[in-house]
Amino acid sequence: MKELQVLQLKTDCGSCVNKCCSQPYDWVYLTTQEVRRLQEASGLTPAEFVSERQNSSTGYLIRTLDLPCRFLDSSTGRCAVYESRPLGCRIFPFYLDPLTGSATLYAAECGDNLLFPEGDCEGSWRLQDLAMDAQKWVEEFWAETIKS
Ligand code: SF4
Ligand code: SF4
Repeated sequence: MKELQVLQLKTDCGSCVNKCCSQPYDWVYLTTQEVRRLQEASGLTPAEFVSERQNSSTGYLIRTLDLPCRFLDSSTGRCAVYESRPLGCRIFPFYLDPLTGSATLYAAECGDNLLFPEGDCEGSWRLQDLAMDAQKWVEEFWAETIKS
């Protein structure tokens, strides 16, 4: 896991079919703050881009981004709310498990568009760069989920 955290990676999203934004899976969990930021950036109401689900055994109310994502501009392949996109999008192709806070690399999603440049290069990043954001996100997510 420690090696994954310092792995330098970059995604060539311009050459991709935006699999991560267009697949109908519900893996982008949202905090209240993220919903608010998306609402402000897009002018849409949460009902237009959020799915709410209640876990039948715990009673927890979970919110996820509706996918295929309506913020994906299909003509340009770009995210219309890029600066306000949720952590689940920023951290992809890592998937952050909200329960454990651990991240798994789904390299196959990006396929040949996932690159591992030698050293620092423009647009590249490491999981370690988002570690503080991810930790804060998990804390926020569970604080409000348990309350709901
Ligand atoms: S699947 Fe990977 S390469 Fe394709 S748009 Fe998503 S992050 Fe970028
Ligand atoms: S918010 Fe942006 S990056 Fe996230 S799934 Fe939607 S289009 Fe993709």
